[in-house]
Amino acid sequence: MRKILNNLLTFFNNTEEDTFYYVRIERNDKCFCNSGKKYKVCHYPDHQKKGKVAVKKISETSAEEQIKVLSVKRLRKEYYRVKSNVH
Ligand SMILES: [Zn+2]
Repeated sequence: MRKILNNLLTFFNNTEEDTFYYVRIERNDKCFCNSGKKYKVCHYPDHQKKGKVAVKKISETSAEEQIKVLSVKRLRKEYYRVKSNVH
């Protein structure tokens, strides 16, 4: 019975909580838009004005990367959710 319950929990963990994490694009990193410029001189000033931040959303299972522009508030929320999932 316990085994079934564990399997069930694993199943729910895999589906309900997507295993991905966010990595912030640092100011000195190349900008995500492929301009060849650094983030800090490209999209960063605009994002800062709008309270947004560019991040890489990385899947732990496929290592697939997606660029996301999230509000700082949203990222905080996601970050905590993902963090608690990872550790
Ligand atoms: Zn850019």
